[in-house]
Amino acid sequence: MTSIATLGSHCALQVLKGAKDEGLKTILVCEKKREKLYKRFPFIDEFILVDSFVEVLNEKCQKTLEQNNAVIIPHGTLIAQMTSEQIESIKIPVFGNKWILRWESDREMKEKLMREAKLPVPNPISSPNEINKLVIAKRQGAAGGKGYFMASSEEDYHKKRNELISQGVISEKETLYIQEYAAGVLAYLQYFYSPLKEELEFFGVDQRHESDIEGLARIPSDQQLKSNKVPSFNVIGNSPLVLRESLLDEVYIMGDNFVEAAKKMVSPGMNGPFCIEGVYDENAKFTSFEFSARIVAGTNIYMDGSPYYSLLFNETMSMGKRIAREVKEAEKINQLEKITT
Ligand code: AMP
Repeated sequence: MTSIATLGSHCALQVLKGAKDEGLKTILVCEKKREKLYKRFPFIDEFILVDSFVEVLNEKCQKTLEQNNAVIIPHGTLIAQMTSEQIESIKIPVFGNKWILRWESDREMKEKLMREAKLPVPNPISSPNEINKLVIAKRQGAAGGKGYFMASSEEDYHKKRNELISQGVISEKETLYIQEYAAGVLAYLQYFYSPLKEELEFFGVDQRHESDIEGLARIPSDQQLKSNKVPSFNVIGNSPLVLRESLLDEVYIMGDNFVEAAKKMVSPGMNGPFCIEGVYDENAKFTSFEFSARIVAGTNIYMDGSPYYSLLFNETMSMGKRIAREVKEAEKINQLEKITT
């Protein structure tokens, strides 16, 4: 019987709770320092204790997972802590498409896929001397917004970059990706694509709360002007959002286009959970600055089911449970290879 395994961080709790609810065995690859935390939750059947998550690549760890017929559920921590090569070398079946995770981590590849999906992306700025409007400078990979900064001129860019280098937040040789800043209401659109049913499901929307950019709004402008601090976009938590119903049609179209583009560019396509991230401007026009090609932590707010999934399922369905359901369905018809890589 298949079991579900994941790394102890990010959305591990809802993934394993969902798997347990579906009657599957659950395994947590857990850093020793977090053992006490995760032991509080009764739905985790087995712990694989490690000093660091890269140990998941070790033969011993992979053997234990193999003996348990484990499917690994990849999430943001896997991407943040391992290189694409390391992820691709995992021998245990990875839920979804492990090859597309490289496209998430690499900014240029990411932009290429987003353009193929006809997503309205902000214009990239190829060099700091081309900055003539408000831009955001971003780091590679799933940095979670830490060390990102805004700039409105070349001088401003270098001043802030140097400040962050001197603080040790970013390194001198790090290549930053610069793009136009898109202002509006943040919306992170969460989807699930089932290759078994060949169907796209819209799961929910969240907003990220990022520090300390959000805290700025609480500080009067005269105090802001006196501060030299470069605000960051470090994700602290998420909260739910529902969209105007009239926006839903476009939400599905964007999801369908993304699935289509992924099928074309990176076989076997965008299977499982994913997220299109962006902002709605004053005309309700969406600009998308990012995608995540796996479950996002923003789905944690819907552990008891999301508003949109309550329209599709007559039962409580979290994203973790939806993943486990797909694994169970695939196992039943002997098609696990269709939903894993
Ligand atoms: P990302 O790593 O691309 O998800 O970016 C982290 C955070 O930076 C996002 O959640 C947004 O708050 C902000 N952000 C990134 N790109 C843009 C953009 N082009 N315009 C406005 N905000 C952005």
